[in-house]
Amino acid sequence: MSRAIKSECSVCGATFVSVAAFDIHRVGSYLPRSRRCMTVNEMQAEGLIQDDKGWWGFDPAQSRPSQTDLATCYSQAGRQQKGSVSR
Ligand SMILES: [Zn+2]
Repeated sequence: MSRAIKSECSVCGATFVSVAAFDIHRVGSYLPRSRRCMTVNEMQAEGLIQDDKGWWGFDPAQSRPSQTDLATCYSQAGRQQKGSVSR
């Protein structure tokens, strides 16, 4: 894998190690004037941390919710194929 492409926010000036981390800090609806950046506290609450350079990224100690969901989804699908679905 190549190095992650960093993203710098032109609004709040924060630098992110990945586009995914950048996307998370932008909140609000998609109407132009209602989009805003998260505060530092909000970003930390979302599992983002700052590295030595001051760049924001996902805390590697925390498992990514998306990966966990995907694994759960696959295991459930496999279970449904093998056994009969009875509720
Ligand atoms: Zn920002």
